[in-house]
Amino acid sequence: MRTRVAIIGAGPAGLLLSRLLSLQGIENVVLENRSREYVEARIRAGILEQHTVDTLTDAGLGDRLHREGMEHHGIYLQYPGTRHKLDFPALCGRTVWVYGQTEVTKDLIKAQLDGGAPLLFEVSDVSPEDIDTDAPRVRFTDADGNRQVLECDVVAGTDGFHGVSRPLVTAGTQSRTWERTYPYAWLGILADVAPSTDELIYAWHPDGFALHSMRSPSVSRLYLQVDPHEKIEDWSDDRIWTALATRFALAGWQLQTGPITEKSVLPMRSFVSAPMRRGRLFLAGDAAHIVPPTGAKGLNLAVADVTLLGTALVRWLQEKQTDLVDSYSDRALARVWRCTHFSWFMTSMLHRSGDDFDAQLQLSQLRRVCSSEAAARELAENYTGLPLDT
Ligand SMILES: Cc1cc2nc3c(=O)[nH]c(=O)nc-3n(C[C@H](O)[C@H](O)[C@H](O)COP(=O)(O)OP(=O)(O)OC[C@H]3O[C@@H](n4cnc5c(N)ncnc54)[C@H](O)[C@@H]3O)c2cc1C
Repeated sequence: MRTRVAIIGAGPAGLLLSRLLSLQGIENVVLENRSREYVEARIRAGILEQHTVDTLTDAGLGDRLHREGMEHHGIYLQYPGTRHKLDFPALCGRTVWVYGQTEVTKDLIKAQLDGGAPLLFEVSDVSPEDIDTDAPRVRFTDADGNRQVLECDVVAGTDGFHGVSRPLVTAGTQSRTWERTYPYAWLGILADVAPSTDELIYAWHPDGFALHSMRSPSVSRLYLQVDPHEKIEDWSDDRIWTALATRFALAGWQLQTGPITEKSVLPMRSFVSAPMRRGRLFLAGDAAHIVPPTGAKGLNLAVADVTLLGTALVRWLQEKQTDLVDSYSDRALARVWRCTHFSWFMTSMLHRSGDDFDAQLQLSQLRRVCSSEAAARELAENYTGLPLDT
């Protein structure tokens, strides 16, 4: 088998990169080690920045997003006695959209199987080779158990945090990683109940952080700060709803409850690996970096990476110009660190550490964001997404 770009991983990063390359006439093949059903059912992010919405729309993937997605004009910040709305259009002229990652993935897979580049599910033993040469290849076993070799010009490592690509890059000289593990996790639920709020609520509470998000007019997504060692079996549905009602409590407002259809504990971590390239292997998305979900940046960063990478690869493979592939890692990492800082800022402002000094600093910061237009604008600009080259 031969192609121009071998893409490892059919998450949002790999699927969108494939789409962007195909639209420019560049052959590619996507290799995914899970089944289509598994990939489409994975519940993860749900907030799309303006830039992400524009990129998906420009790539011909905006129909269902604009029909079923929900445009949001702000968020509420809450601390005891106060729920304050940050009005994004007034503060920075941008909005965000609620549209689940599952739906983005379904749209991308549908477009791909409907005349797009080859997408091979349930492959195994994926192994990029000779990435430091001009003729890299990827060996893998296909779904029927046959060993295959995919010759290519470029390998895109979009295989997430636990993939095979990043270890090859970090094994190179001058590679470096940074990591912070936070001493708390999120217990996330999906519930068949209409959201009790028009905008997301980010709530600071003495018991810990809580977030009220949503996926559709009839499905709510809610999170509770918990200990990272917490066992999901210890959290009955009643216990979850009681904790959520306590942390979101506000006079005159009530949390609506309903059947919980999914619940899981999500660890909180920041991780950055640099550079995002070794030879002809390029990393994008969670393969190169992880952020805690408080800033809603993981999926949006993956989209920003492949937008830069797609343009750079088109210029290289079609116009033989290497300037954009050579600057890809630095340009992507500048944005990655901005989003890493913002995610850390939101996480640090909202999660209880158990230390009362920390609590007073957090409340002071929350009061500042809720009373100063400059502080609110800084948050709004970062939340809705800064320009691509940031
Ligand atoms: C459990 C979880 C929950 C999350 N929840 C939230 C949230 O609530 N809010 C939020 O903003 N963000 C959340 N995120 C972050 C967000 O979902 C990610 O940033 C986003 O999925 C990144 O997309 P990606 O394509 O880079 O990686 P991924 O979505 O991880 O896709 C990588 C793909 O590569 C495949 N793969 C892996 N190894 C191989 C291999 N060896 N060969 C072939 N294929 C391979 C995987 O199966 C997967 O399909 C969550 C992430 C995780 C992991």
